[in-house]
Amino acid sequence: MKAEIISTGTELLLGQTLNTSAFYLTEQLSSLGIEVDYHTTVGDNPERLKNVIRQAIERSDLIITTGGTGPTKDDLAKELVAQILNLDLVLDRNSLEAIKAFFAGRNAEMPRSNEKQAYIPQGAKILPNPAGTAPGAIVTNQNKKIVILPGPPSELEPMFTNYLLPELKSLTQKDSHRMQVRVLKLFGLDESAVEEIIGDLMLQSSPAITLLAKRGELHIRLIVRNVDQTNAERILDQTEREIRTRLGDKVFGKDKETLVGIVSQELKKANLSLAVAESCTGGMLGAALTQESGSSEFFLGGVISYSNSLKVGILGINQCTLDSVGAVSQETAREMAEGVRKLTGAKIGMSITGIAGPTGGSHEKPVGLVYIGLAAHEGVEARRFQFFGGRDSVRQLSVNAALQWLRCYLLRSKGEHNNS
Ligand code: ATP
Repeated sequence: MKAEIISTGTELLLGQTLNTSAFYLTEQLSSLGIEVDYHTTVGDNPERLKNVIRQAIERSDLIITTGGTGPTKDDLAKELVAQILNLDLVLDRNSLEAIKAFFAGRNAEMPRSNEKQAYIPQGAKILPNPAGTAPGAIVTNQNKKIVILPGPPSELEPMFTNYLLPELKSLTQKDSHRMQVRVLKLFGLDESAVEEIIGDLMLQSSPAITLLAKRGELHIRLIVRNVDQTNAERILDQTEREIRTRLGDKVFGKDKETLVGIVSQELKKANLSLAVAESCTGGMLGAALTQESGSSEFFLGGVISYSNSLKVGILGINQCTLDSVGAVSQETAREMAEGVRKLTGAKIGMSITGIAGPTGGSHEKPVGLVYIGLAAHEGVEARRFQFFGGRDSVRQLSVNAALQWLRCYLLRSKGEHNNS
């Protein structure tokens, strides 16, 4: 199945809105094994939009449009699809009631202009929109599907997961020639290092292997095409095993797994509590750890000890340590991890102190130098890291390195516990 995404909205072409929906939809479609061949962005111009939709219908099997479903005159997605396919627009009473109820829920009466949103191309399947007013629609024409989704991501994303995803799943299950994708995620090796280790596997044609650096992580994407599901799974399993053997615990997860998600799960399973002391990351580690709900089961909190006075005053860092080796040092990282552990009573204390740059580095302590500390019942340890890239990259890599270390620590402890 060849898919194509058409994003509509002049604001996307003016650089006022980032096209996150095309990104979201592409990610969702590839995880279903549907290849996206084209992304087109077009302004709110009926002629251009019509041409783009026509061309898409000629060359693709699944076309998803976003935006242009609002109540105003320039919102023309459904109208243009109906015109191109010679379909009437018919009033869908259920959608009209849902729009009225949406306004009633806000103590308001539906403006007349919103009635337009309840007109749907004849024969289309309706995708309800509990988060907004514009319903989506799936129009089937011969073997092609044209899906019309609203623009706001807060409406598009739940509509996709609740209503479109089940439809697409049933379509792809019937398609034995779909693409199967698996993504292995790792931290601590760059693209060239990984290429040296698995370069021979990357020369094979199936699975096709590509590398993608993403927010301080490296993703290894394995793609198998034109093979039935059982064989595809077998090829992917075999290659995954080989890659994990070669890259060891640098691989932290796959597909939808995240580093922070895995760490959170392991902390919960081991019934361990965690507190953090952060300097150069200014709370980013705490923010990452609280991304998912349920983090209060293990995360006690943190101290953003950016200044030396807070490091001494709150975390109890020895002034002599700061005077002799400075805030960015192995000793300070150790004392910060131990300090926050004692302060909060957490089972594990983690710390990050470093020079995020772009200024402030020296010959002995260059920009990107970061120390991370981990204190637990066995004792305290601090490790030195040298990261590269700008300030954002150094801070993100610091957070990832702390999480990766914590993951390895938790898995090792679990192994020791199981062996004893
Ligand atoms: P509305 O009822 O709000 O008119 P609509 O379906 O007509 O909905 P648009 O008017 O195109 O959608 O966009 C509404 C909002 O969604 C705007 O804030 C817009 O910037 C945002 N938006 C539209 N398309 C995208 C996209 N591809 N990615 C991210 N945001 C988008």
